Amino acid sequence: MKTVILQGSLLENLVCAQCGKAYPASVLQTYATCCNQPLLAHYQLPHLSKKELCNRPQSIWRYRELLPILDDNNIVSLGEGWTPIHSLSGMASHLGLREILLKDESVNPTGSFKARGLSVAISKAKELGVTHCIISTAGNAGGALSAYAAKAGMRATVVMPAHTPDTLKEECRLYGAELILMDGLIDTCGKKARQMATETGAFDISTMKEPYRLEGKKTIGLEIAEQLNWHLPDVIIYPTGGGTGLIGMWKAFREMQQLNWITGKLPKMVIVQSENCNPMIQMFETGTFPESFTAKPSVANGLAVPHPFAKDLICEVVRESKGTAITVSEKEIQDGIAKMASQEGLLLSPEGSAAYMGLRKLIEKDYVREDESVLLFNTGAWYKYR
Ligand SMILES: *Cc1c(COP(=O)(O)O)cnc(C)c1O
Repeated sequence: MKTVILQGSLLENLVCAQCGKAYPASVLQTYATCCNQPLLAHYQLPHLSKKELCNRPQSIWRYRELLPILDDNNIVSLGEGWTPIHSLSGMASHLGLREILLKDESVNPTGSFKARGLSVAISKAKELGVTHCIISTAGNAGGALSAYAAKAGMRATVVMPAHTPDTLKEECRLYGAELILMDGLIDTCGKKARQMATETGAFDISTMKEPYRLEGKKTIGLEIAEQLNWHLPDVIIYPTGGGTGLIGMWKAFREMQQLNWITGKLPKMVIVQSENCNPMIQMFETGTFPESFTAKPSVANGLAVPHPFAKDLICEVVRESKGTAITVSEKEIQDGIAKMASQEGLLLSPEGSAAYMGLRKLIEKDYVREDESVLLFNTGAWYKYR
């Protein structure tokens, strides 16, 4: 193993999301085997004034101390993060809300917010001497892994459902990854990835089975706070698959509270899924993960995750934040794309459209009040779903 020098990160160790048992961060880790839960990175939080951020790079790396890479030389970056937040004032007055904001993650490298997580995970893997990564993906995470692995000079293997749109497959091949197609959804791909990781010694970087993609995704929470001048919106609507972004944002909010960067109420966190695969909505509503349910592919590929490893954490965030969970139909997802494009000039990914249509349902149910500000995500680029 390589020795690493502390240069900026204040990473201390990793802890089990359930029991808090500590795992050393100096070696490669996957998940907390004690409770079969994700591992969370724990930092010795710095005495860092938020004013110091203003001259930093306009990427996720402006939050250097809150990211887990020890040596700057290991950072693998393609310019991810610091994406714009648009105020959709026309849409807001149309829907009768004070403010609708949209954070546009489609402008990230590789066209989705998966770039954030994979930039950090690949950087950390490089720091710990990994030379071959494998991932199970609904599409975008595979492309991001392939691109960052190419930049890092690392081998990449991507396991993806065969029904995934061609662009999402082709980019992996162009980035030089080995692409394996499976009949089924991402959970089938996950099994294959685990089996191949055991056989080949490749490092499995699948959602929440590896602790540092979460740290990359956490930066969306840090950015929302900083870009909105440290005033968080009242409601955040998140199209949820594996839940990394949702859990990451909540972790960011907690860390910023400890740093005294934010005070006051945290946003209500709302999760949205498609009727074709909505186990998290069912779990939130009934309190237990559904024993059996039919999981079909969705046009919103990133949301079709039948068995999210971090299901307990997802529910915890929604509950703690006094949020809620909402299902949208496949038809609504399609309609939402056209609505947003023609009204605001923005092309949403199907997942982003799900969040938007989720908002419309929340308004109908009077869950969102007219004096509240709501933040939506466009998590990916529409152009990739061809
Ligand atoms: C992965 C993905 C999601 C879901 O994100 P999670 O953090 O895994 O819940 C949503 N939208 C797009 C475009 C994605 O690629």
